[in-house]
Amino acid sequence: MGILEVKDVGKRFGGLQALGDVNLSVAENSVHAIIGPNGAGKSTLLNCLVGKLIPDSGSVMFDGQSVLGRKPYEINQMGISRVFQTPEIFGDLTVFENMMIPCFAKRDGAFRLHALENVGRERDLVEKAEQMLIDVNMIDKRHMHTASMSRGDKRRLEMAMCLVQEPRLLLLDEPTAGMARADTNNTIDLLKEIKETRDITMAIIEHDMHVVFSLADRITVLAQGTPLVEDTPDKIKGHPKVREAYLGE
Ligand code: ADP
Ligand code: MG
Repeated sequence: MGILEVKDVGKRFGGLQALGDVNLSVAENSVHAIIGPNGAGKSTLLNCLVGKLIPDSGSVMFDGQSVLGRKPYEINQMGISRVFQTPEIFGDLTVFENMMIPCFAKRDGAFRLHALENVGRERDLVEKAEQMLIDVNMIDKRHMHTASMSRGDKRRLEMAMCLVQEPRLLLLDEPTAGMARADTNNTIDLLKEIKETRDITMAIIEHDMHVVFSLADRITVLAQGTPLVEDTPDKIKGHPKVREAYLGE
């Protein structure tokens, strides 16, 4: 049994079958990549795991418990954190203030802006947030407003905002999309370090095959809402069906 077990999950948008019968098992402490062409249903699948979308059919089990029927904040409190396809940070707030949001959300199930006024009282949360900024090499930027930061730094902050929740499962939707090569390489290094030093499972959607092959233990190829193959990176590289469906050969 994997820490995440997706069974026969289907999702329709009107006449469009975005997901067919998706089956996916993610082993604990592994990195599982999900690849596939645009519109394959990758983000839809992720949305079904975090309660943003409710599947029409099937089941999603995390650590033996169903996530279906739970609200996104409840699923977050179960130990699943997610990095979105486009950065979701608050440009008006500083790096440190942004870091406090997931800390409050994890503990209280919600975040209210006025919580930042008395943040000095939250010694445990502040320490956690500062330690995480040290870990991701952003402590010197703690007072910076995020609006002016580079895309790479925003991504790094967003990842830190997930990690500070100490999730057991981290979901990443195209974490290097739109990044320059140097930032992509930094992200690979950061994710490798996370993988090696933390008790964490990752499911990552990614277009950049260099990122996928650098990190993944297993790869699932999704095409038209259905898993085509699932295997190790080495096997996936040479798979004729993958070349056909994904690389368009
Ligand atoms: P991917 O992330 O693999 O590129 P998506 O999961 O975003 O693909 O989309 C899968 C399909 O479902 C696409 O055809 C997309 O247009 C459609 N789709 C996604 N979200 C919605 C939605 N909220 N309403 C209607 N159609 C959607
Ligand atoms: Mg997507």
